[in-house]
Parts: sequence; structure tokens; C-alpha cells
Amino acid sequence: MLIIGSHVSYKKETGLVGSVKEALSYGANTFMFYTGAPQNTARFPINEDQVAEAFALMEEHNMIASKVIVHAPYIINLANGDEEKFDFSCRFLQQELQRVAACRMHYLVLHPGSHVGQGIDAGIDNVIRGLNHILEQDDSDVMILLETMAGKGTELGRDFHEIKRIIEGVKKQDRIGVCLDTCHIHDAGYSLNEFDKVLDDFDQLIGLDKLKCLHINDSKNYQGAHKDRHANIGFGEIGFDTLLNIIYHKKLEEIPKILETPYVDRMYPPYRKEIAMIKSKQFDPELLEKIKIHPSDES
Ligand code: FE
Ligand code: FE
Ligand code: ZN
Repeated sequence: MLIIGSHVSYKKETGLVGSVKEALSYGANTFMFYTGAPQNTARFPINEDQVAEAFALMEEHNMIASKVIVHAPYIINLANGDEEKFDFSCRFLQQELQRVAACRMHYLVLHPGSHVGQGIDAGIDNVIRGLNHILEQDDSDVMILLETMAGKGTELGRDFHEIKRIIEGVKKQDRIGVCLDTCHIHDAGYSLNEFDKVLDDFDQLIGLDKLKCLHINDSKNYQGAHKDRHANIGFGEIGFDTLLNIIYHKKLEEIPKILETPYVDRMYPPYRKEIAMIKSKQFDPELLEKIKIHPSDES
């Protein structure tokens, strides 16, 4: 069965219930959320009643709650060795793990971080040190999923080797996994037209059993551009057929597919129609126009 959803909002008033309702409105059976704004670290306590209500709602609608993903805020940067910044990132990630557990979720996606000029080796050492420090003091069952990155600026995780190096340094192996982002690996230089080769490469270096989440995005830029600008499904340089091949890949059946594609005109969420188009397996060149005219219906 296809396990598919998108990034959804999480608002203070409606909490996880609001997120589930938004995912349902897109025809999704899973989703991804941030426990607050992605760009900042302002957070509020998780409301347990809302979590219980959200799980009842997910069960009622046959959603796959065990595969819901949480994404950590962008400003956590374990790769920066500056003591003050490093401590802040560690402390915040520690609290974030507790919030994920309070939401009864199992996966937290994390950008490995940027070394900000300190060098790849130092950056990777910092990430490993941070992860071990955090996991040592956390006994939840939340798995941290390192996201593959486009390699913008001094971003770490721009290829499977860097991800492998970080994973190898983590002591609690059952608490670390990977989230593969199609736009990011395309921008990092991988050819998604030869996806079986990419998967083999991943399997040999890291192991497919570590892959727990897929971010499905098209890319506005050419392969190897190191830009990280997401495009709507089929409207970018990767293309519909190539993305479809990944989405329906036999080896990835059990892995949740999460769309992080841009809102049309920065206003209209594309997810309901993108998910419907993926299920129909038929590219619709008019899709973005249709989203503007009828943002909420399926046709
Ligand atoms: Fe991400
Ligand atoms: Fe992503
Ligand atoms: Zn991205």
C-alpha cells in the first residue's frame, strides 16, 4: 500500500488534531509536522488530550500513525562547534525528542548541519559528539533521521559517504536512521534517472534498513546545482515519471513518502491534487492552474 502524505501545519490551538485534519483534507494516510514554526525554536507544551484525540481520528480514518514524521527546526546546527551555539542546539534537540515522544511519534528528521567554515571533518565530529551526548540522556524510542542535503553552502550530508560517517560514529545504532530527499540528492548530483544505482549505492554504504522516510519533491534546478529549491511534482528538473518510479519502487513500499512541494502562488497548498495525481499515475500539465481555481476538490 502506498504510504503518502505531506508537510502539514501544527498550530498552538488545534495541536495534533489540526494536523491530522489537514492531512485528511489532502487524502493522505500519513503526514509530517513541526512541533512549532520551522524557522524558530518557540515551542509550547504538547497537549495530551489533543494527542489522544488525534490518534482516535487517525484510527477512524485508517491513517498510518506509526509512520508519521516530525521535522526538527532548521536552526538546530550540531555541526557548528562554537560552544554556545552547540550547547543551544543540543539542549533544543533534547527537548524536541521529548516533544516527539509526547506526541507518541517515532521519527524525527534532522538536517545534519552546516560546518560554517570549520571544515567537513570538524563538522562531522561535532554532529557525532552532539548526537551521542543527546542520545545518552534520552531513553525514548524516537529515531533521529539524518536528511540527505543538497550541499548548499557548507551543509553536511551532501552525499551518502558523509551520512555514513556520521551514522558510524553514533553509539546507539537503533536510534539513528536516514531520510532521503529527492530534490536534495538531485541537487547534490545524484542521477535519479538511474535510481536503482542510487539505491544500490545507499544500500552498500549505509544499508537500506536505515532508510525510514522519503521526501518527495521535484527540483527547480539542474542535477548537481547545490541549490535546494523544491518544485511541484512533475514541474521541475526531475520529472513526473522519475518521481513515480521512486514512489512506487518495490523496495520502498513500507517507507512513508512526504511531499514538501511549494504552495501555488504561495497561497494554495498543492497536496490534495498532487497526491491524487500520483495515485492516478498520470501527469496533469494543468495541475497548478487547477489548484488555483479549485484548491480543495480532487478533480
Ligand atoms: Fe528537511
Ligand atoms: Fe526535505
Ligand atoms: Zn529542501
